[in-house]
Amino acid sequence: MIEVKEAFEIIRQSALSLPSEQVSLHDALGRVLHGEVYADMDFPPFDRVSMDGIAIKYEDFAKGIREFRIVGIQPAGAPQKSLNSHGECIEVMTGAVAPEDADTVIPYEHIEIKDGVAHVVRERVRERQNIHPQGTDKKKGDLLIGRGTLIGAPEIAVAASVGCTQLEVVKNPAVAIISTGNELVEIDQKPLPHQIRRSNVHAIAAELHRVGIQPVLYHLQDEKEKIRAQVEKLLHEFDVLLLSGGVSKGKFDFVPQILEEVGVEKQFHRVNQKPGKPFWFGKRNDGKVVFAFPGNPVSTFFCYHRYFVPWLQISLGAGEMHEKKAILAEDLNIRTQRPYFMQVWLQTGDDGCLYAVPKMGKGSGDHANLLVSNAFMHLPGNTDGFRKGEVFDVFPFREL
Ligand code: AMP
Ligand code: MG
Repeated sequence: MIEVKEAFEIIRQSALSLPSEQVSLHDALGRVLHGEVYADMDFPPFDRVSMDGIAIKYEDFAKGIREFRIVGIQPAGAPQKSLNSHGECIEVMTGAVAPEDADTVIPYEHIEIKDGVAHVVRERVRERQNIHPQGTDKKKGDLLIGRGTLIGAPEIAVAASVGCTQLEVVKNPAVAIISTGNELVEIDQKPLPHQIRRSNVHAIAAELHRVGIQPVLYHLQDEKEKIRAQVEKLLHEFDVLLLSGGVSKGKFDFVPQILEEVGVEKQFHRVNQKPGKPFWFGKRNDGKVVFAFPGNPVSTFFCYHRYFVPWLQISLGAGEMHEKKAILAEDLNIRTQRPYFMQVWLQTGDDGCLYAVPKMGKGSGDHANLLVSNAFMHLPGNTDGFRKGEVFDVFPFREL
């Protein structure tokens, strides 16, 4: 049995190196950028008017001029006009090019217009106010979005503004999710008294859908030959197999033995953790990776979040997961030998800190308890209890 840290280190070493693909800009949301996005022009590309009002020469205002004859209008999207004589102004709209020779914009709120003349009614006018100078945000050729960036709405907007109709993103791995167990039936079936509906795979599939991966789902009965044949076939077709069940000490837990028989080399079996102790992990020399999670629903779900999610992030080239911590909100009088990943509800207190309210549940079979939880909190082993106010690592599985 190995420790959680060692187990994750081994998994980290088994990260994939994935190729790239071109996708349309809108399909790039939630993907990881493989290429780089550069500015194809200055940001902003011209001295941009940032308030509706009048454009003047500041020099005029400084000399005491407060009345400006309006000699034109400069709307957004029109070529640049110019301000020739002193004491004149051009009405300008937000987003317009600042007129040539004008350097200051006074908003409509600070003027009164009568008979084609703008009267400034506010004494405080700063030179160059309300003009967003060319190239002050970014210069043409600047790197805007780097490789490994997770693409969100701001990245889509910036890529759009530099004319990217497509983006080069990291190709997602092909993932198969395989449940095992004779007791499991499909969602639309009524289980016999000795059966249950399989749920694990749907939880994992839902999580993968959230990150843009479309897994294929399989189910295998606890029969050695069938498992062997199917796993061998799926190892050809997929980059990663996520199995659930069949890795414990039961008489019908054939998964570890079969995986080794088909050339998947065991990297570890059993981790010093609760839930998910029987977790098995291996890889084949052709780079295929297999996560074989214990079948209990909370175990599968926990192992997915603690191990697979950061592995995927590294495989996609998006870097390491940031550590997240929270404050235990209550005393916990529990004795735990193994490190315990307790289900908690994370919430921000009035002090702005993140608190974890324990949601113990009835063990790793009690997946209804996940309904009232949003994270796992890593409590160290060999302890007699935990005090309110202690800080521990957390692994959230819902948006906070
Ligand atoms: P196993 O790891 O195969 O020994 O399974 C442990 C427990 O998890 C058993 O009670 C199984 O019925 C249950 N289980 C296994 N796979 C699933 C699944 N896909 N969905 C729901 N429960 C499962
Ligand atoms: Mg089983």
